[in-house]
Amino acid sequence: HHLAKSIANASWRIFRQMLEYKCEWYGKKLIAVDPKNTSIICSKCGYNSGAKPLEIREWTCSKCQT
Ligand SMILES: [Zn+2]
Repeated sequence: HHLAKSIANASWRIFRQMLEYKCEWYGKKLIAVDPKNTSIICSKCGYNSGAKPLEIREWTCSKCQT
């Protein structure tokens, strides 16, 4: 289990490095976001709209309509 976890972490690190490289190559800016609570708290106004079921992949903030 521990080994699987370190392999997974290494893969993400490599993926992240490739992404950064590709973004630079195409003149794009990579913005890393803390994944914690992105489905709960609005990124624009900070409104907490509560937990949602897993099948909800996009949502509109009821306060600022983002
Ligand atoms: Zn909002």
